[in-house]
Amino acid sequence: MHILEKFRMPCAWRGSAKQISVDAVIPLFAVPALAVIAAQTLFCTIIIFVTTPVLVHYLHHNFLRFLLRTKFFFVWTIVSVIMLMLVFEITVVPLLEILPEENLVFIICVVGGIWCGYLTRLKADRMTQNAGQGLELGEGSGELCLICRRRTPPRAYHCRTCQTCILGREYHCKWLDCCIGSSNLRWYLACLLFSAIAFIYGSNLTMTSVCHPFILIATVLLPDDCSDVYYQLDIALCFVSAIYSLLVGLVLVCYLIYHLWLIYLGTTSNERRNLPPSSHYGESVLKSLSPIFCCKV
Ligand SMILES: [Zn+2]
Ligand SMILES: [Zn+2]
Repeated sequence: MHILEKFRMPCAWRGSAKQISVDAVIPLFAVPALAVIAAQTLFCTIIIFVTTPVLVHYLHHNFLRFLLRTKFFFVWTIVSVIMLMLVFEITVVPLLEILPEENLVFIICVVGGIWCGYLTRLKADRMTQNAGQGLELGEGSGELCLICRRRTPPRAYHCRTCQTCILGREYHCKWLDCCIGSSNLRWYLACLLFSAIAFIYGSNLTMTSVCHPFILIATVLLPDDCSDVYYQLDIALCFVSAIYSLLVGLVLVCYLIYHLWLIYLGTTSNERRNLPPSSHYGESVLKSLSPIFCCKV
């Protein structure tokens, strides 16, 4: 038994059947703590943003991947979204640098992203339930899955985490804790689009509020001088949140472009992974990044 599995003593939530495990609790404390440490000095910011992806990858590679289904990444997503929203609405908006309509556009994109993420998970749950109840051994028209021990429809692939075959499987997204397949791909793409806009736009609004901005075109501002953000902890937290949002937003844009490219090619990332190496054009960057961001490409 793995060391983290020993600590994974489910403690019953009073009066409910919900269980909580240690690996899912870590991000509740780690994300806000890392943000506060990063907000101390520029040196701390750089160290935290460089070491955190490496540490999360180390944790995933050595501990989390041995757990059957960890909520670590999903809780990380929820805590990050709540933290960034709170920092924006409690600290950035009262600075009165942001117009009400700019805040409204930001909130619409955040709500759109959360709603599409929720639908992605809902459709994934239905997909795994249907797969579990539907096809019995020998049914279906495709190849025999040796793990499920049943015939599955064409273009269905097995997910070890969901423990079933998923139609049009792309990969298991750890950050949403569900499989991405043909039934929820459109909601996943909408989630990526809304979230990417919300993260990048929120980052820009925050940066231009806490740093000295300059006018790019009309009402479009860019941050200019951010040298004095570390004098106040709340302003430094806004600055750190803005960098975090920008980085996450850019990663989401990469994933969105990657999926649109796969749709254009008429394939899925699961199928491309099974192709010979010579047929992988332009995927080397995403492939090398994917272990860090823990989405199995
Ligand atoms: Zn299977
Ligand atoms: Zn899965």
